[in-house]
Amino acid sequence: MTTYLFPPPPVAAVPVRGHAGLFPVNRLFFVGRNYHAHAVEMGKPVDKSVERPFYFTKAAQTLARSGATTPYPSETANYHFEMELVLAIGKPGFRVKAEDAHEIIYGYAAGLDMTRRDLQLVARDKGRPWDTGKDIEEGSVCSEIVPMESVVVDHGAIALEVNGATKQSSDVNKLIWNIREIIADLSTYYHLQPGDLIYTGTPEGVGAVLPGDRITGRVEGVAEVALQVGPAE
Ligand code: MN
Repeated sequence: MTTYLFPPPPVAAVPVRGHAGLFPVNRLFFVGRNYHAHAVEMGKPVDKSVERPFYFTKAAQTLARSGATTPYPSETANYHFEMELVLAIGKPGFRVKAEDAHEIIYGYAAGLDMTRRDLQLVARDKGRPWDTGKDIEEGSVCSEIVPMESVVVDHGAIALEVNGATKQSSDVNKLIWNIREIIADLSTYYHLQPGDLIYTGTPEGVGAVLPGDRITGRVEGVAEVALQVGPAE
């Protein structure tokens, strides 16, 4: 029997609609710049004819449940929300063809890719890794996962409010790389596994929150997500 010097960290997991059992989370992948209007607002337009998608990752330990109150994080003065459709992988897949991509889909969730924008932009412009800008403790917010096996979500309103005021409003049909294309491309780099979550990118309208703010968001036909921003640490 394996023994450990101290208790290993708990398995990161997310509730599943209609199931008592939790979805155990393996890895968190994030697609960068996947809506044209957001790419433009970041000053980095995308030309799909000559570019492939790019990705960053966060540790599964950065997950926070929808409805949580999380501290305003350290070392930032520009803490941003990014509303995203989250894809939950249910079967292994490597070099998955786009036309077969539906076969490994377990379901979807609504998520927030919380970002230290000030640190991310410095890192981006200096050619440094994004980790401290993106891999934020409790900065990967995820709703319950909605089982939608083999369903390819290709449209649906995606929106976010801060304290009830609309900040982001778009449609999943505006994804530059759609669900099938994301699975096909990401699975050329990684052996996708059950428990992997893929945050598919944010539409335009990203912005800052402050301690005390309440974020609410949704993806039509999928789920809602909420986050209360607590005091600064
Ligand atoms: Mn994002």
